[in-house]
Amino acid sequence: MAVNMAQETRQETGEVPPLDPARIRADFPILAATVHGNPLVYLDNAATTQKPRAVLDAIARYYTEYNANVHRGVHYLSQVATEAYDEARRKAAAFLGATVDCEVIFTRGATESINLVAHSYGRQHVLPGDEILITGMEHHSNIVPWQILCKESGATLRVVPIDDDGNLIMEEFDRLLNERTRLVAVTHVSNALGTVNPIRDIAAKTHAVGAVVLVDGAQSAPHMPVNVRELGCDFFVCSGHKMYGPTGIGLLYGRAELLDAMPPYQSGGDMILSVTFEKTIYGRLPSKFEAGTPHIEGAIGLAAALDYLNAQGLDRVAAHERGLIRYAESALRAVPGLRLMGAPRQRAGVIAFTMDAAHPHDIGQVLDEAGVAIRAGHHCAQPVMKRFGVPASARASFGLYNTRDDVDTLVQGLHEVNRIFA
Ligand code: PMP
Repeated sequence: MAVNMAQETRQETGEVPPLDPARIRADFPILAATVHGNPLVYLDNAATTQKPRAVLDAIARYYTEYNANVHRGVHYLSQVATEAYDEARRKAAAFLGATVDCEVIFTRGATESINLVAHSYGRQHVLPGDEILITGMEHHSNIVPWQILCKESGATLRVVPIDDDGNLIMEEFDRLLNERTRLVAVTHVSNALGTVNPIRDIAAKTHAVGAVVLVDGAQSAPHMPVNVRELGCDFFVCSGHKMYGPTGIGLLYGRAELLDAMPPYQSGGDMILSVTFEKTIYGRLPSKFEAGTPHIEGAIGLAAALDYLNAQGLDRVAAHERGLIRYAESALRAVPGLRLMGAPRQRAGVIAFTMDAAHPHDIGQVLDEAGVAIRAGHHCAQPVMKRFGVPASARASFGLYNTRDDVDTLVQGLHEVNRIFA
């Protein structure tokens, strides 16, 4: 992993200074913007994060200095582009703690990564009478592909319920997991509640019944150190745009042994060793799963984002955001008529709430006038809304550049909501 020298020295001396958000904010040009005449306060990081200059520059450099298609040309530019694309995979593999680079497949995002596993691994392994286990706090992207697979294969979808605090009910997980379970698909961190799930425990129990586990890391990878081997997962998915990288690029980690035995998801150029009209021999990993010209710019931009995150240190990012979330939780609890949605044992990235005085969309609108960007709606997690008996919620979600001042501005805006609507 590309750990920078300053970080290594700090780790050697055991001294880990906290993140300096003021310095970090200067790396993100958009954070200097004003919205409706007010300084932008960006608290919609679970939807997508802003991009540091290092990412923007890396993408511009690719197009201005070495734009070419990869894996095809003998010419100089193509070789430079290919090296950058392969280097991006090396960095992604190191970031996730994969054993070998080819365990990382570039996709369009978490959604496509899940679809790849459902179509390829799922169609091969899931048969009538089998079961797929998901949880009550999944994003639609980790529900619908499994629903479709179950419908096509004759398998049954089972759902582990969540309690009033937004924690997974592990006794129910234990009860629902059985020898018919083929695959467990679970989010590492809930985008609607912020709950951090006990993945290691889930993975160990899943393996004990002979099934595999897919972890949706869309909301964990930007916020905490992730190591797929320590987690014990078989598949792990995440999205570049939620990790300070570009849109349209994401990662699928899969254990090499599993990926090797899986059929292609899409087919065409680049994923073959040889083609005749009679027979096609597929390429090896990772190209077997990357048909067509890849998102070269996206991979290069994502690599720059991973470098940026590594340079800050994911443990420092996690500590900074933990402090901010604790501060925000108590500040929000003090707002009259505001109810936090869930109180998970461990929370990352997200705080969702409702207010007696106003619908989440009205909250969002008043905050927008004040320059504060939050999300209002069902957050692509309608079953969570149903579980909590609300049609929608307001959601503030944090990133490494957010500050206590941001939280204070949010809270001021919520007092304004009460003033307007109460
Ligand atoms: N899973 C979770 C938990 C998410 O929060 C999201 C995005 N909101 C996704 C999956 C889907 O990510 P993408 O839209 O980048 O594919």
